[in-house]
Amino acid sequence: MVQRYQLFIDNEWVDPASDTWFDSLDPFSGEPWAEIPRANEADVSRAVEAASAALDGPWGHMSATDRGLLLHKLGALIEQHADTLTEVESRDNGKLRSEVGGQVRYMAKYFYYYGGLADKIQGAVIPMDKPKVFNYTRYEPLGVVATITPWNSSLLLTAWKLAPALCAGNTVIAKPSEYTSASLFELAKLFVEAGFPPGVFNVLTGFGKEVGEPLVIHPKVARIAFTGGDAGGKAVNVLGAQHFKRVSLELGGKSPNIIFEDADLTRAANGVITGIFSAGGQTCMAGSRLLLQESIHDEFVERLIAISSKAKLGDPSLPDVQVGPVATRPQFDKVMEYIGIAKAEGARCVFGGNSRSGEGFGAGQFVEPTIFVDVDNSMRIAQEEVFGPVLSVIKFKDEEDAIRIANDIRFGLASGVWTKSLHRAMYMSERLKAGTVWVNNYRSTSFTTPFGGYKHSGIGREGGIEAVKEYLETKSVWISTDLDMPDPFVRKY
Ligand code: NAD
Repeated sequence: MVQRYQLFIDNEWVDPASDTWFDSLDPFSGEPWAEIPRANEADVSRAVEAASAALDGPWGHMSATDRGLLLHKLGALIEQHADTLTEVESRDNGKLRSEVGGQVRYMAKYFYYYGGLADKIQGAVIPMDKPKVFNYTRYEPLGVVATITPWNSSLLLTAWKLAPALCAGNTVIAKPSEYTSASLFELAKLFVEAGFPPGVFNVLTGFGKEVGEPLVIHPKVARIAFTGGDAGGKAVNVLGAQHFKRVSLELGGKSPNIIFEDADLTRAANGVITGIFSAGGQTCMAGSRLLLQESIHDEFVERLIAISSKAKLGDPSLPDVQVGPVATRPQFDKVMEYIGIAKAEGARCVFGGNSRSGEGFGAGQFVEPTIFVDVDNSMRIAQEEVFGPVLSVIKFKDEEDAIRIANDIRFGLASGVWTKSLHRAMYMSERLKAGTVWVNNYRSTSFTTPFGGYKHSGIGREGGIEAVKEYLETKSVWISTDLDMPDPFVRKY
């Protein structure tokens, strides 16, 4: 049965002002399974007013300790309702049930971590260069925060923003991707159950132009936390700048995974496969450029083919399936187009390269895990983000050659280095222009440490203590202890 959702504003479930809904499709079956409210500018105004009012209500007056306890409560409810959240998110984005389940359970820890941090955000008493004055800093919430997120990991990527934003005392309006909206409505139910006051968390669904842009330019929205692609990120950044908004961007990547001849090749091969084929390559941090030292090239590619041959494609809800469908039809078309581009550019496909359809493949939105060799770093298949299960293999000679190739790209989100040499690991970690360097592992993330991009991969960091500062204003307070009457025309330096 198709389920109809409503918008979540001010702790209430309301119909959209447009009185219009659009379908959410199950990527495996291709069938509509939910009706998503199509919000517009009027809903944005309503949600912003609610989120704004909450800053002056019980939420704004709540102690940081109590705020932290509420975040803890939410974390516990996420764990308790993990199966429902998993089912809904996987239904929307087609990712493996097992993978989404892991993400959802891990997501709870973001709320525990930032809940614990809420009453540890401290200003400082500043030693002054002037007599008879007491100066201190205090951190204050920015106000209403809008989160705008993509379709690959709706819940987790929202949590990366939501948990620190709430920890800092802000209120939030979440705008998920039009392809994967439902799971945030399920999360909203848990906010009510946890006892959050009205207006603290709101969910508006719909399209970038109709909901995203009005959120970005609304005078009462202070901060936009965006994750998504280049075009959307640029539009949000330009629009945000015109309205003096604080904007963070988590964008795309074309991350190098670099294998040296001295690496543990068995572990490295597994790491490469996880790096590119997990989530069908639909992750910003996918290790989509494999840089292989010449001496091990042929042997290593054979290992990858052997592992990839065992991958089972199919229904993402089945426990023995390793590769699910591509999340959306336009994305499927884009991945297949890039496979054609790679072939036309002269790259050699040594594994996969086809779509799959027929029995066991639902609506046929499947792309085989695909490996291209003879890739030159200047080719489009090496420079552009495919966001699918396509690996480009590039040879290198030595460390300097690997660094040159790895950094010769406009992205700088992440990178992997596989070696047994500590010196080489540290040297490479210094030289790679990327927000994350994984040595002898790939795709690890944690709420305890920052994540974000160099260059076109983004602006700002999510995760760790640093992330909270991105949701706070710093105020400097001066208290004069001078009882003498100063000369009003002479400023003291
Ligand atoms: P997208 O940019 O099309 O959409 C992302 C969100 O932005 C959606 O909610 C969309 O409705 C909204 N949006 C689009 N145009 C907008 C506009 N003009 N104003 C306001 N909002 C707008 O991205 P996508 O296709 O959903 O996601 C895939 C992209 O996300 C990939 O490029 C991927 O690399 C990136 N991504 C990055 C990270 C990261 O942490 N760096 C994580 C996951 C995905």
